[in-house]
Amino acid sequence: MIKSEMIFLGPPASGKGTQTEKLSKELNLPHIDTGKLLRAEIEAKTKEGKIAKKFMDQGQLVPAQLVAQIIIKKIFSQEAQNGYILDGFPRSIEQAEILEKALMDAGKANSNKRIVIKLLVDRNSLLERIVNRRMCKNCNKIYNLKTFPPKINGICDACGGKLYQRTDDNEETATKRFDTYNKETAPLADYYREKGFLVTVNADGEPSEVYQEILSKIK
Ligand code: AMP
Repeated sequence: MIKSEMIFLGPPASGKGTQTEKLSKELNLPHIDTGKLLRAEIEAKTKEGKIAKKFMDQGQLVPAQLVAQIIIKKIFSQEAQNGYILDGFPRSIEQAEILEKALMDAGKANSNKRIVIKLLVDRNSLLERIVNRRMCKNCNKIYNLKTFPPKINGICDACGGKLYQRTDDNEETATKRFDTYNKETAPLADYYREKGFLVTVNADGEPSEVYQEILSKIK
């Protein structure tokens, strides 16, 4: 049976966004991108967005309850009835436990459709990826100025939207994000390994190769 309740783990710029976006389209499962949802709250100037921004600008995790409330609503929504692809949640043991409780309460904690995919990337290339990353304001397509530049500078190939650099994609904030990842998120690999959900994928290669490896693991 194909796994359709997916969680992606991996450090900032490990390719979670690129891979989950593609999988979501091909498998017709909602891509629940935590960072994007938080950035939308900031853009809409909501109370949650104002709180989130303070943490995001510091490269720290937004409080677990705030994030969990947004994500869990999505997991139990109509559009996720056949499964979902979680990108960027959970990011700490505390968040994973909130999720487990919510799934348990719904009788879905031990589903054999669940899988946790950890992307393994050489640390040296991550910072380089971050400072060169640009995203489309309109469709969220991700570019890299060195390895995957747009055809026209500053313009999205796919939709013509304007490209931008995330405010947290600078060296200083990125370094803090790596520290946060090591301290808070990396322990999730053992957490999910013990539950029997974890698989690892070498994500150093070309995005298309990484994608094929992911496909082979979810089947
Ligand atoms: P991302 O777009 O996944 O790189 O996330 C950008 C930022 O959003 C992170 O550095 C955090 O500040 C915040 N964020 C994203 N996901 C979470 C989460 N699950 N828990 C707390 N904060 C998060």
